[in-house]
Amino acid sequence: MSKKILFVILDGVGDRVLNGRTPLEVAVKPNMDFIAKNGVQGIVDVISPGVIPGSDTAHLSLMGYDPYKSYTGRGPLEAMGAGIEVKPGDIGFRVNFATVDENWIIKDRRAGRIKDARPLAEALDGMEIDGVKIILKATVEHRGALVLRGEGLSDKITDADPHEVGKPVLEVKPLDDTPEAKRTAEIVNKFIRKSYEILKDHPLNKEREKQGLPPANIVLPRGPGKVPHLQSFEDKWGIKGIFIAGVALLKGLGRFAGLPAPDLEGATGGYDTNPMVKIERALKFLYEEDGDIAFINFKATDVAGHDMNFEKKVEMIEKADKMFEMVLDKKDLVIAITGDHSTPVTKGDHSGDPVPLVLYAPNIRTDGTLHFSEREAAMGGLGRIRGFDIMPMLMDLSDKAHKFGA
Ligand code: ZN
Ligand code: ZN
Repeated sequence: MSKKILFVILDGVGDRVLNGRTPLEVAVKPNMDFIAKNGVQGIVDVISPGVIPGSDTAHLSLMGYDPYKSYTGRGPLEAMGAGIEVKPGDIGFRVNFATVDENWIIKDRRAGRIKDARPLAEALDGMEIDGVKIILKATVEHRGALVLRGEGLSDKITDADPHEVGKPVLEVKPLDDTPEAKRTAEIVNKFIRKSYEILKDHPLNKEREKQGLPPANIVLPRGPGKVPHLQSFEDKWGIKGIFIAGVALLKGLGRFAGLPAPDLEGATGGYDTNPMVKIERALKFLYEEDGDIAFINFKATDVAGHDMNFEKKVEMIEKADKMFEMVLDKKDLVIAITGDHSTPVTKGDHSGDPVPLVLYAPNIRTDGTLHFSEREAAMGGLGRIRGFDIMPMLMDLSDKAHKFGA
């Protein structure tokens, strides 16, 4: 009988040494260490050696896709994660609700981190510009996602967001000579103008101005990308999966691959996240809903890396460790724990350092390593592999793979 698979991605977990040790080496994590001691470890170049992965491209690779073929930018993923039903051919963007003065000079890129921009998005959502449908959804705080739907569109255009206070909003320009790029740039410029005209007088902004808060009076799109055709995960591997994540970008990625990516209460993607709701959902999917593989992304380790906070990263690793208490007694479960990339606290951003991987399955060959860490993983029995090597190994360990040849 084939086994179930639990694939946990501790976002940005890999690190470099500070005072001789990495956060993984300092963290007290008895469950992950138990899995390491009874499993086999290796070190993973998630995309390829030295390539610095984004979370999105890294997860594609971990799911067995070639990110160089399947990745078309962050915009469409954010849109999908925001709950917009994107279609192949749509152009997706990330957007900010921002504050500008009457000359369109940026006063606040985040409009005072406005709590709820949904009424503003609703005032713009659904309009048409030159026969193209505008779909706009607010997500968290000042963030949102924009989709253009229509004929003859291109993602080869520049951003409107100058990324700096005191600078003017940028005119969107085509990046190539095609009529599609020119037309799309024009439509986005018209949309930005419309957003200002409508939002500057919106009652919510009038109210904010009365309270001395910056009005969210313009929408700035960036990171355009064409919605790709991605073979569904179930077609690709012939198994039934779920993708559990707290942040919209990764939920969007899961949904692109055709996997359900549920919105779970308490799974925030931040330091306050509750990983237990994720593991409970994963186990329910595997054992009550006849699922084959559950992906879980745990984002807080990456957040601590970006915050350059060593202690916080240790604390988040220890928090994630609690999840595995729920699975140690399972006799028919294959477990993979890895990262999507390193986010060293000494750098404050992603790096190309490979990440540790541990695989655990009933009767798996062990390798003599005792703790889950970068250093011990590098001495482990799996050696040094690529991100896309993991799925075939999980298929084999769970007895779902087929023989190659006779
Ligand atoms: Zn990541
Ligand atoms: Zn990150």
